[in-house]
Amino acid sequence: MPHGFERIVAHPERPDHSAEHPGDTIVAQLRLDGWHDATVRVLHPFTWDAKFRGFRIDELAVTPARPRTLVSGAYSVADAAVLNLDESRGTRTPFDFPEGERHDGVLYRTVGHSPEPHERYHDAAGWCTVSATDADGRAVALATALDRSDVVLLDLLADDHGLTVQVRLPWQTFRPASLPAADALPGLLVRHGLGDHEAAEGWLRALLTSAMPTRAAELPPPLIADTWGFGTDIDPQRVTAFFDVAADLGVEVVTVDKGWEDHVGDWNAQSGYAGGVAGIAALAHDRGMKLGLWVGAGNAAPDSAVATAHPDWLATWNGRHQMVSHRNHSLCLGHEPARDHVLACLDRLVRDAVDWLLHDFETISRCDAAHHTHDPGAGEAAGVSGWYHVLATLRDQHPHLLIENCWNGGKPLDLQMIAHHDTTIGDDWCRSEENRLAALGLGVYLPSSWTSKYMGDQPHLPLRAQLAPYLVGGPWILMGDLPGWSAAQLDDMRRAIAIYRTWRTAARDARAVPPALSGSAAGVWGSAAGVTGVALTPRADGSQLAAFAVSPAGVGQLVRWHPVLGASDAADVDAWLVRDEWSGAERPATRAELEQGIPLDTARADGLALSVRPA
Ligand SMILES: [Zn+2]
Repeated sequence: MPHGFERIVAHPERPDHSAEHPGDTIVAQLRLDGWHDATVRVLHPFTWDAKFRGFRIDELAVTPARPRTLVSGAYSVADAAVLNLDESRGTRTPFDFPEGERHDGVLYRTVGHSPEPHERYHDAAGWCTVSATDADGRAVALATALDRSDVVLLDLLADDHGLTVQVRLPWQTFRPASLPAADALPGLLVRHGLGDHEAAEGWLRALLTSAMPTRAAELPPPLIADTWGFGTDIDPQRVTAFFDVAADLGVEVVTVDKGWEDHVGDWNAQSGYAGGVAGIAALAHDRGMKLGLWVGAGNAAPDSAVATAHPDWLATWNGRHQMVSHRNHSLCLGHEPARDHVLACLDRLVRDAVDWLLHDFETISRCDAAHHTHDPGAGEAAGVSGWYHVLATLRDQHPHLLIENCWNGGKPLDLQMIAHHDTTIGDDWCRSEENRLAALGLGVYLPSSWTSKYMGDQPHLPLRAQLAPYLVGGPWILMGDLPGWSAAQLDDMRRAIAIYRTWRTAARDARAVPPALSGSAAGVWGSAAGVTGVALTPRADGSQLAAFAVSPAGVGQLVRWHPVLGASDAADVDAWLVRDEWSGAERPATRAELEQGIPLDTARADGLALSVRPA
């Protein structure tokens, strides 16, 4: 295993199993004798199931009285909600999906609420860090990562003599007729040693980066424009007008979002598009841009040709078809004929000259259909394997195709989802502050080139303030009404795009980080304070960018930015230049001045972009 991690997977056990009461399956255990006073940092990825919480990292205490269990996988908030209810009531509730006409089609939660800090079960990415004190009083840390996207329960169980870390597969989704071999089960990758959360986060970064495919590293993250600013209200005329403005702005990839397709599941262009998908691709290519296409690859509309001709390919759960995003069903990717249909559709799109595939909605389905090619007691695991097969085959057959993970807003996040994609989104609101938080949260673990950011129109914000988070890292995805933008807005956009292009990088050690700020109105991560920002880690030569948003609460306040000076080849440089990236104005500054902090211009609520570099 790379970077000091080892993969733990035990002979699986089901201690409480019977035909009437299936038990959870324990597949990995690690005992850390003497570890006490433990805390776990839990990354909650964005999900529409907890849309007002947003992207967040919580640090939670693990005590003998309060064990913690991290729930990863595609439906983690809904699953954690059920498990917390079960724990409080002593019940055994199946995992389920919403029923009825009124649910909005992107929620999976049927009972309970999104997890609260005092509760045991928490939705989480498929990795975490633990910090503790060992029997000798030393600071020790643990990093864990999962190599499957099924729902997995990671137990952290403290007692008077140490800490046990355990991986469980819940009976609700995993009760196969016979237990598979250990190497077919989710394994737990672990590394532990002296250190703290920050040290363990560094171990995770090395592991996650090593799992990434390399093709996106050949170029810096692109500038993308996507039609979702119009929702599904698109047609050939609107798409063409959108492409024209995007090309004029220098957009590199233009993606047509939901609404181009005739039926979800069949993946043919609506009849008005001359030449079908190949015709749309030509529209983009003729303007010097690559074509991206949205798909909900694992879904099928009830009136689609595939669902009508092959109703037996639909996933069933608790005996009925799931009604999920935008009131579509799911195809069971664990059932080989359905999986092969999905692969053939996606392959056809790429052969029609699609360069960038962004997938959304539900590709990992739960399925208990007895007539499918998988064990009905392990349908989700089969669906996960089926989805990996589709992605791996596409990637193998099309070495230049780039694949973006937008799984119902960016989940799940684990080693295998990283390994099968070229970028992931962090937030699905398409709003500035939410994207800033997601970029900083993902930036703890992933390179700055791997954090797609959606930018919808937010006309109530000063444009440069809205733009601040989008200048750092990428891919940056414009989602507004581009043909409706004013000349003044287009001018600022061109300037912003130039800043983005100057600073974007494919370097795997570049990350989005919170800039160090001082002053009463300085915002810390997650706060609603007067001045907030996001920065890029310094380049080797010491140059670095930071972008800030000054809110009305920050106007007139004294806030200083303290660039990072010690961690580069420029550690001893005394003469620096400070550049206003918006105006291009530069001024010299001594090292001592930078250490004291660069006062930010808070004269009005607006966005700032500053850089420093050795003179
Ligand atoms: Zn199935």
